Amino acid sequence: MNRFLTDAKIIQAELGEIRRDLHRHPETGMTETRTARIVADYLKGLGLSVREGVGGTGVVGLLYGQRKTRTVAFRADMDALPMTDRTAGEHRSRIDGKAHACGHDGHTAMLLGAAALLRRGAETLEGNVKFIFQPSEERLPGGALPMIRDGVLDTPRVDGLFTCHVHPGVPQGSVMVTPGYCTVSSAGFTLEVIGKGGHVALPHQAVDPIVMAADCINAAQTIISRRTDPLDSIILAFGTIHGGTANNIIPDTVTLEGTIRALSPKQRDRVVAMFRETVEATARKHGGDFRLDVRMEYPSVYNALGMVSILREAAAKVVGASRVICTERPFMGGEDVAYFHERIPGAFWFMGTGNPDMGFDHPLHSPLFDFDETVLSLGAAIHAQCAADFLSATVVPRVPGAETRRQGCEASRNRP
Ligand SMILES: [Zn+2]
Ligand SMILES: [Zn+2]
Repeated sequence: MNRFLTDAKIIQAELGEIRRDLHRHPETGMTETRTARIVADYLKGLGLSVREGVGGTGVVGLLYGQRKTRTVAFRADMDALPMTDRTAGEHRSRIDGKAHACGHDGHTAMLLGAAALLRRGAETLEGNVKFIFQPSEERLPGGALPMIRDGVLDTPRVDGLFTCHVHPGVPQGSVMVTPGYCTVSSAGFTLEVIGKGGHVALPHQAVDPIVMAADCINAAQTIISRRTDPLDSIILAFGTIHGGTANNIIPDTVTLEGTIRALSPKQRDRVVAMFRETVEATARKHGGDFRLDVRMEYPSVYNALGMVSILREAAAKVVGASRVICTERPFMGGEDVAYFHERIPGAFWFMGTGNPDMGFDHPLHSPLFDFDETVLSLGAAIHAQCAADFLSATVVPRVPGAETRRQGCEASRNRP
C-alpha cells in the first residue's frame, strides 16, 4: 500500500473527529474564528510555523523541507453555508441556520491530515509545503483575494497549488479532474430600462419601458446564438423582470436581472461588452435610456496541464489508476481558488463522495449533503503524495494560461 495511505489510515479516526467537530460548529464567511483556532492549534502542535489572521480569519502553516528551493501549497476552504442542516447524524449542526453543506469541514480535516503525514518525513522533502486555510469561499467577494493581498503566496513564494473539493457526483474514493478551464466565470447584472411614464391612451406622449425591455430581451438572444462560437459554453439569461403598477399606466422604468457565464473571463467580458452595446442601441432606438450595473463574480479556475499530470499520477499511487477520472467537461459552478490559479500554476480536483447505498448522493448545497469519512484519509494521502511528487519533479509546471483547454486529458497524461 502507498506509504502515505498507510499512515493516513492510522489517523483516520482523528480526522473524522475533527471533521465532525467542525460540522457541529459551522461558521460562515469571515466569522471562522473557532475553526481557525482549531486549525492553528493543530498545526502548532505539529511544530509548523503558523500565521493567523491572514486576509481575515485565514490560517497558513509552513513546513520547511530539507532544501528550500521550491514551495508547493495546498488550499482548504473553512466556511459553512447560511442554511439549515437536515442530515440525521450525531454530527448534525448545532448552530441554527448554518451548515457545512459544501464539505468544507472535510477539506479542512483532510488538509490537517496531510500536514501530519508530511511532518513525519519532512527531512526527506525536497522543498517547503504551505498549508492555506481560507475563509469565505461561499460569499462574494471571497477570501482568496484578501489572503493574496496579505502575502499568502509570498515568502516563500509558492510555485504550485493543489486544491481538493468533495463531489457527490463522483463515486466515493474516485478522483476527478478537468485540464484547462474547469469552472465558469460569471457576472450578475441589473438592467434598468428607463422610459417616460404616461397614460396608455396617449403612447405618443410617453416612452414605453415595457416595450423597450421586451426588445432588449429579444436583442440579447442573438448575442450567444449569432455572435459567439457555438463550441464555447456561454450563458446569458434573465432571471427577473419587474415594472408597472396598473393595466392602464405606462410606467417610467422596468428592471431586469440576469447572469452571464462563460468558461474564460475573456469570453465573459466580451459578452458583457456586447450586452452593453445591444442595450444601448435598443434604448436609443426607442428614445429612452438605461442603467446597467454589472458585478463581476469569480473568474474561471484554470488547471495547468503540468499540475493536472502530477495530480493524476499522485492520485493513481493512492487510489489506483482506474479510479482517477480525467474529464474535459467543466463544472458550471464558480470557485474563488481561481484567483490563486491566475497567479501560479494550480490543479483543482474533486474527491468523489457519491455512495447511494449509504445515502450519500445528495448534491452539494443540499441540506442533506453528507459523506463517508473514509475519504478524509484518501484526500490527506493524495495531498501528501502530490507534495512529494511536485517537490521532486525535475521540471516545474508551466505558468497558468500558457495552454488551451482543447489540449485536454490526453495532453495532461505525461506532461512535466
Ligand atoms: Zn459551495
Ligand atoms: Zn465548496
